[in-house]
Amino acid sequence: MSRSHRFTSALRVLWAAPTSALGLIMALPVLAAGGALRRVGSTLEVALHRDALPSRSRWRRVPFAAITLGHVIVARCGDDLERWRAHERVHVQQCERLGPFFVPAYLLASAAAWWRGDCPYRGNRFEVEAYASEEPNTRYHADSARETDAGEAIQSPSDSGTR
Ligand SMILES: [Zn+2]
Repeated sequence: MSRSHRFTSALRVLWAAPTSALGLIMALPVLAAGGALRRVGSTLEVALHRDALPSRSRWRRVPFAAITLGHVIVARCGDDLERWRAHERVHVQQCERLGPFFVPAYLLASAAAWWRGDCPYRGNRFEVEAYASEEPNTRYHADSARETDAGEAIQSPSDSGTR
């Protein structure tokens, strides 16, 4: 990693820090409940269970598998992290672009989708971008996903634009 690259990634982390702080607050109850935290590249991944969600876990009722705020990704379990990592990393890039404006922009995008008559979640332009990024590897395979090291996978946010 060159010095200038290190500098710009430090800037991105700093710019996203207010959003990451919200992510850390969200991670606290998961960590307090016995969840695990690990660093993957410049993101922190927090999951309640290391592998699969136990079949009787009440977390199965939570309607989302993973949430990203800044450089913090909170998931129910390790399997969810594997499944959703590419998607969540698009949100990390969005947070790096918009910094402290990500959360208000995301909420506005949901409101705009609802106003258009779309689903506030799937019609949200940030989600549209994140889901679009998954298309090449929707053939999800737990083993192959585990082999790819996500550490340095995402280098240039601008390359993975919306079209
Ligand atoms: Zn998403």
